[in-house]
Amino acid sequence: MNDLIESLYIHFPFCDSFCSYCDFYKRKWSSTDATAMLSSYEEELEQMWQKLTALHHSHQQQIAPLKTLYIGGGSPSLWGKRGAVFLKKFLEGNQILLDEACEFTLEVNPRHFEEILPYWQSIGVNRISMGVQSLNQGVMNQLGRKQDFQAVERALVALQASGINFSIDLLLGVNTKDRNLDLEIEQLLSYNPSHLSAYILTPKGTCYKYPLPPEEEIRKEYLHLSLLLTQQGFVHYEVSNFAKKGKESQHNLQYWRHNCVAALGHSASGMVGNHRYKWSQKQFKLEKLGEEEIYLERLYLRLRTNLGLSLEEFFRGKVQQEKMQELLLEWEKRRYLKASSPLLCLSPLGYLMLDSLMDELFVRVLR
Ligand code: SF4
Repeated sequence: MNDLIESLYIHFPFCDSFCSYCDFYKRKWSSTDATAMLSSYEEELEQMWQKLTALHHSHQQQIAPLKTLYIGGGSPSLWGKRGAVFLKKFLEGNQILLDEACEFTLEVNPRHFEEILPYWQSIGVNRISMGVQSLNQGVMNQLGRKQDFQAVERALVALQASGINFSIDLLLGVNTKDRNLDLEIEQLLSYNPSHLSAYILTPKGTCYKYPLPPEEEIRKEYLHLSLLLTQQGFVHYEVSNFAKKGKESQHNLQYWRHNCVAALGHSASGMVGNHRYKWSQKQFKLEKLGEEEIYLERLYLRLRTNLGLSLEEFFRGKVQQEKMQELLLEWEKRRYLKASSPLLCLSPLGYLMLDSLMDELFVRVLR
């Protein structure tokens, strides 16, 4: 584990309307109580930061100039100009430096970010991640998104005009007949995003009430999207993520490489040494991970990406080589592996099957 922390995630918990499919931790925003809510949230962050640095120091970890800083949520764009002013003070006051090449991402909602962008850019934000989910009005309604097509279009025009690097979130697996994904992608790419994230709707435990399409349809939609974006010059570099070359999310790559990312904000979690911590209000809970758990987690995270996995690095001394080769041959036949990679690297079909592949690996080779 690296003893320098080069990444920080800050969770902003407020949303002004709750989307039906969402299971993130969130608090209801009220514009009439905004000042009081934000003051208490900002105070919470200050207190959390003191506890977090003490925790990392107790594990001999130091906060280095940050290579990535990510403000996620929730809907951080509700923080507005005030958020940019607070964060500048917060970083300076706590001597948190940004590396010259720091990737500084702000998540935004298309309905409320346009006028705040210059303030956030002035404190270093150089990447925007916008939750669009779909350009189809029926899909937006079904998902309980309060946005309309015009608002999303205005936001996309403004993003493109600003010249900032940006990513768009999409949702797959929504059961509607009139969604034309090809058309949506064509429209979205015309604004020149450098990155797209496409998640498959998983409504378990949420308020989403519509029936899901058959699994086979979801599978086809996912593979079709992968092909479509790859043909347009995007690299399918992680299960749900596509980027133009060199525009991969550096922040998320820190997680997938199992590097330490410090985390602030209720429900945010991070790693310190061999412990995972999770914030609950202003306290964190520590959970010690065993060697085996860390090993399996690293394996799982690495298989999520196209970074590839070196068999020697991951399996030396842990498995019988014959069993491993047998399983890999099967995966190859079932088209779960990327043919061109010298490392163990999953194909888009393999990404889709990741959980069951991990089970197979565990049951047949690692146990
Ligand atoms: S805006 Fe984002 S975080 Fe808030 S409810 Fe919708 S999906 Fe969830």
